[in-house]
Amino acid sequence: ALGHRVDQHDQHAAHERINYEYYLRKFGEPAPYTQPLLVPLTLEFTAGEAELARSRLQAFAEAGVELEPFGLNAFLVRAHPEWLPKGEEQAIIEEMAEWILSEKKAVDIAKLREKAAIMCSCKASIKANDRMTREEGEALLGRLAACEQPYTCPHGRPIVVHISTYQLEKMFKRVMS
Ligand code: ZN
Ligand code: ZN
Repeated sequence: ALGHRVDQHDQHAAHERINYEYYLRKFGEPAPYTQPLLVPLTLEFTAGEAELARSRLQAFAEAGVELEPFGLNAFLVRAHPEWLPKGEEQAIIEEMAEWILSEKKAVDIAKLREKAAIMCSCKASIKANDRMTREEGEALLGRLAACEQPYTCPHGRPIVVHISTYQLEKMFKRVMS
């Protein structure tokens, strides 16, 4: 019997959902734990963007990113949450900066955290065509079942889970006995 399994093309979506709920919780913590960077990342802006960024440092801080003005139009990333997906920190912070600077009025912090959590979850999740063992697949399903909203990925795409007849019968017997 196959038992429960996630459709191979949906293993990315399933993993994304699990990771998304984790990152959203992390971003939502009132004081995100930030790791001071020994070698800070840098962000380069145009003069106009830099001015706007200086007035929106609080929005970055609300997402756990501590910026320090550096020269005319650049910033050092002094700290960021230590749980950002490894190797993706620069790309994630640059994308966040783009959102923060593109907001016409005040930055919606809840929306910023949600978008950042979606981006992190996508980057941290297994790819659709990566091979998973059956045990890994079952572990993934177990974690998916524990999610608050296990039916769609954070982009809103439905996650397809196959349940074999054998598994259904087994579940029924468990309910009956
Ligand atoms: Zn994705
Ligand atoms: Zn998705």
